[in-house]
Amino acid sequence: MAQTLNVFLVNQAGDLSGRFDDSHRKTCAATLKTYFDAIIKSVARYNAVDVKWDGKQGDPTAFDFVCYVLTSQKGSIVAKKGSGGSLGISGSTMLATADKTMISEVYLQQIVQNGDPRGNATANRETLVANCILHELAHNLLDASTPIVTDVHKLQKGVILRDTDTRPLTGTDAPNEVDNGAVRGGFGRRTSGVKQFVGEMPT
Ligand SMILES: [Zn+2]
Repeated sequence: MAQTLNVFLVNQAGDLSGRFDDSHRKTCAATLKTYFDAIIKSVARYNAVDVKWDGKQGDPTAFDFVCYVLTSQKGSIVAKKGSGGSLGISGSTMLATADKTMISEVYLQQIVQNGDPRGNATANRETLVANCILHELAHNLLDASTPIVTDVHKLQKGVILRDTDTRPLTGTDAPNEVDNGAVRGGFGRRTSGVKQFVGEMPT
């Protein structure tokens, strides 16, 4: 029986003084849904995608994704629960040391306001946030725990899956078939799924 791929987005960033409010969040979720709809097309496990902002701790399975949307690195869950090392500029993904669940997070102020709390919102902010979330979820599935399926930053010709350290993602980037194929490969290889960190989801 095919199942729904649920992508749980957990908002801990408020609305950035209106720069990323409920309507922006809805658009961002709809964009992510179109991304994953394309990805799951030839993945037997899934027949639908649901992206939601209102998930509860008991909802995600190892075949779903969870991504925390934080204001900035200051609130990093990865820094608190992970095994150390430096955080990414726009987001980070790492195993929690205590229970070996996967933590993905993005930093909204960096993505939407280029890190300046008083800065104006960037163009295509909803798409840019969706792109950064897809990038972190690719790490989640592909290279942040064993087996390493694809080293996301070494993927050639990917748009969202590539080395973003020197060249950040933009709001006009969109996943291509190299990105989609890499994530599909991850779904094929990770036959037990990837257990997601749910500890900071609402109960
Ligand atoms: Zn990365």
